[in-house]
Amino acid sequence: MKFTELGLNESLLKAVKEQGYTEPTPIQAKAIPLVIEGKDVLAAAQTGTGKTAGFTLPLLERLSQTTPVMKKKQIRVLVLTPTRELAAQVAESIATYGKYMSYRSMVIFGGVGINPQFAALKKGVDIVIATPGRLLDIANQGGIDFSAVETLVLDEADRMLDMGFIHDIKKLMAMMPKNRQTLLFSATFSREIKTLASGLLKDPVLVEVARENSTAGKISQVVHLVDKSRKRELLSQLIKAGDWKQVLVFTRTKHGANKLTKQLEEIAGIKAAAIHGNKSQGARTKALADFKAGNVRVLVATDIAARGIDIDQLPHVVNFELPNVPEDYVHRIGRTGRAGMQGEAVSLVCVDEHELLRNIEKFTKSKIEKVDIEAFRPDPSIAAEPIQNGRGGGQKRGGGQRGGGNSRNKNNNSRNRNNKSKNTDNKADKTPIEKKKRPHNPHAEKIGSYLQAKLDNMDKKPNRRR
Ligand code: AMP
Repeated sequence: MKFTELGLNESLLKAVKEQGYTEPTPIQAKAIPLVIEGKDVLAAAQTGTGKTAGFTLPLLERLSQTTPVMKKKQIRVLVLTPTRELAAQVAESIATYGKYMSYRSMVIFGGVGINPQFAALKKGVDIVIATPGRLLDIANQGGIDFSAVETLVLDEADRMLDMGFIHDIKKLMAMMPKNRQTLLFSATFSREIKTLASGLLKDPVLVEVARENSTAGKISQVVHLVDKSRKRELLSQLIKAGDWKQVLVFTRTKHGANKLTKQLEEIAGIKAAAIHGNKSQGARTKALADFKAGNVRVLVATDIAARGIDIDQLPHVVNFELPNVPEDYVHRIGRTGRAGMQGEAVSLVCVDEHELLRNIEKFTKSKIEKVDIEAFRPDPSIAAEPIQNGRGGGQKRGGGQRGGGNSRNKNNNSRNRNNKSKNTDNKADKTPIEKKKRPHNPHAEKIGSYLQAKLDNMDKKPNRRR
């Protein structure tokens, strides 16, 4: 299949060519002709599949086909996204592919002044990419007119529900014209998503490119079992031993993200930045830009802040803490291995998280390889403790972000357990990963390649620049 066979105009094809894309990805090949035809589409597509261009290209094509007379504050296309970052990325994609077309687009999200947004809408905009909360705010104040919306896109709909946007979405949907095209993209397909979709889409065509609830194909996944108190130390060593240049690390809480970032910088001397909901938009944009530019080696993120981050060829994702919800694991590791690149997802799992790991394996219908690292083998005398705030297996989605900081790191028990470890954080980095025989772990025999290669590499280059 070629891009030229999809029904896109010359301006769009030129812009696609400039991106160096030779072939449409499967989701693009399937979705683009359907969207151009005006069909409602329900797409089960993970990030990294090229889904953004899968809807932005045909939307631009459709826009070019008619020139309706627009009234003040009316818009033609609305794209709803869960996060500001994703909104900005969709806008970037529209700007990239639409560079040879004339239309006006804008992003609308909270955390920045509302007045310039009112003003821009008044001047006239064709495409709005927005997060639900701020958009509803503007709509309630009469700042936008949805009556001419031709196409509505809900991008990463599952995440919008996770983030508690359902009420805002319902209110916004009630303002949309009935006669419109609707596209809904979601990485996972829960019952809630199906219910939402059935209320919004008319005779939708289902487009699926990856098996439901599956993890992306080109991502190698590995688990290292390690005590909670030694995770930071292991992470530093993996980064240094593997000479990882760009790694996205997930923590469960904003507090945890800040703490880890500080430790990586101050103790391990690794340039790191945190990105989460408590950071200002400016700080988040800067952290992402520094990371993309290679000025920052580690970006520590919470699930919601990282949602939709698109970094070409991101090679490493680390789950410093496993997510409470298995779907989030799929989203997290989808940050690597994008658009056919090889990616590696490493999970550092402590005794408290075994249940979460089992849930993830059940959800993804796969066993994740456990690689034993002798120097970090967990202390068997440490007993599992429940993850605080009821965030164990059966917990509701989304709670980890909205409930304010998780006090887990502060609790006495975890402090006690941390004290059990002989290594303090400071000492830890100076302890090299030991390359010893691995006699008794059944996993160890079949592992070999992954870490061994890294260890060998480290041995060969003891003075590698940190
Ligand atoms: P997405 O799933 O939309 O977040 O896209 C993932 C990545 O794939 C982005 O970095 C895109 O720039 C890239 N991409 C999109 N379409 C193609 C294509 N046809 N060929 C190669 N890469 C693509």
